[in-house]
Amino acid sequence: MRTKLLAGNWKMNKRISELAPFFDAFATEAGIDRDPGLVKKVEVLFAVPYPLLAQATQLAKKHGIHIAAQNVHWEASGAFTGEVSFGMLQELGINATLIGHSERRQYFGETDETVAKKVKAALAAGFTPIACVGETLAERDSGKTESVVTRQVTSILGAASPDPGRLVIAYEPVWAIGTGRSATSAQAQEVHALIRRLVREQLSPAAGDRMRLLYGGSATPQNIDELLAQGDIDGGLVGGASLKPADFAKMVRSGLAR
Ligand code: PEP
Repeated sequence: MRTKLLAGNWKMNKRISELAPFFDAFATEAGIDRDPGLVKKVEVLFAVPYPLLAQATQLAKKHGIHIAAQNVHWEASGAFTGEVSFGMLQELGINATLIGHSERRQYFGETDETVAKKVKAALAAGFTPIACVGETLAERDSGKTESVVTRQVTSILGAASPDPGRLVIAYEPVWAIGTGRSATSAQAQEVHALIRRLVREQLSPAAGDRMRLLYGGSATPQNIDELLAQGDIDGGLVGGASLKPADFAKMVRSGLAR
């Protein structure tokens, strides 16, 4: 049985002063205050901007919520202006990070190769990497979804072999991110089933059974139930809706009901 994971991606949003009111409202809405054991049944994580990490970690701890970075560099230290290492994150009590979000691939030149280096370094550092894959609209429309996702996942699994640790893969069709146009649950399940098959074939059947696969792309309180009802979808990576405590709390409750 894979524990559901609801991960919020705040992107470049929110300020330190908003953290405490946000987490208090979220914990109340989600029912964590009344039932602290809830976060054992469904895992909750927020990937927040670097300057918010230290304070978010302190504040989230009392609610049993996890905090993650949105990006990291694979080297331990050196002349990499503007970058942050795993060791630096560890000092803040962080042990999870997004890797290769499509916005990083699209705007900041991330490639399958850099994503693979980060996944490898993350596992070596004992982190939970949440590695993102997904096709563009042009790729979907030209029938390339399977080949693109297979290429991206194969590269990630190569870096995670032989032991994927706590690796999570998020399938996020680029055309669905921040557009209000979610993949249908059938479209999402089809790609998740493909990813799980690749994990089974390229790592092991046990890794395929164990690895959590998240869906991301305009997931909301309205469509999350149907997405989470799919056999290979183990949670969500949620952008816009994770900025609103009541909306994200509803989505966590949906995860609890599964
Ligand atoms: C994301 O940022 O990973 C994402 C899926 O965004 P949204 O939910 O806003 O589409």
